[in-house]
Amino acid sequence: MAIPEKPNSCVSCGASTISLRETHDLYTLYECAVCDLQFWWPFKNPGNVFYEKDNKESIARNENPLSMPLLPTQRHFLREQPKRGGMLLDLGMGSGRFIAEAKKLGYTVSGCDFDKNAVETAKTYYGLPDVHALSVEEYVTSFPDRKFDIITMFEILEHLDGFDAIPKITSLMKPDGLLVVSTPWRGRWSGFFSGDHPPEHLTRWSDKAIRIFFETRGFRILTLRHMPAAPDYFSRLLMRFPEWTHGWLSFGLSKKLKRKETSNAATRGSGTPKKASVRNRIIRALSTAKLYGFFFIPTVILYGYLWATGGRHATGFYISMEKI
Ligand SMILES: [Zn+2]
Repeated sequence: MAIPEKPNSCVSCGASTISLRETHDLYTLYECAVCDLQFWWPFKNPGNVFYEKDNKESIARNENPLSMPLLPTQRHFLREQPKRGGMLLDLGMGSGRFIAEAKKLGYTVSGCDFDKNAVETAKTYYGLPDVHALSVEEYVTSFPDRKFDIITMFEILEHLDGFDAIPKITSLMKPDGLLVVSTPWRGRWSGFFSGDHPPEHLTRWSDKAIRIFFETRGFRILTLRHMPAAPDYFSRLLMRFPEWTHGWLSFGLSKKLKRKETSNAATRGSGTPKKASVRNRIIRALSTAKLYGFFFIPTVILYGYLWATGGRHATGFYISMEKI
């Protein structure tokens, strides 16, 4: 079915009171006056093939799972260990790094992702048996009798182009089960991220939007936490400096190298990572030394400020819910 040029109503609550906020490439951002959700139009996820073949981050993650660090919200979970030792399902697990860590802590884990290469990596790299190449919706319909103590969904919500599966998640939860969700906060300082756009991210969330969304889909919110700038943002900020200084001092060598590696990875598909040549490793080391040499102190100052004002400069939400 062809997608209309403009939406008639909010993609979440159906209200017709929506207003245009901004545009990005061929996409337009709308905000709903009733449920406060912001959504991009066309509201369409690019699909599993995009994540398997065209998305730089997922290709890198599938090639070398350890290249993708655990998210701050995942580390928060692993520190708190809610429902310790219980049955855990991770929806949109990527290549399974988080559930591999959770398994070490004693959880019985299951997971799904619609990226087939990621699921293959979870099986071969982490030896996780109960992982499936299914979307959230497909998992819910494939295993209707399963019941979990805890279901997690880290940084998935903003990728979804439909919410029919969300209320169905309650049927996979034990009566006292928990749903833990993380997603970017749209009020955060934009310096933290450069990629909060379609086609990957299709929605932007506020406190109000989160509350209305889940409370009208069968959940009671127990905690809605604003995540402060985590240590990983230090390196993210550091990496932004060359861009902010408009490539000042850049010879373009490491960029060229990165482009070449990405295109190699794309043609090679999933598999074992190829060893970098000595020359490439030297270029990379020099480029890292340059980055730290010039931008370390400015980053310390900026990071210190953002960390100290953590509440105002939160990066995302960590939401814990039970079913009603
Ligand atoms: Zn709405």
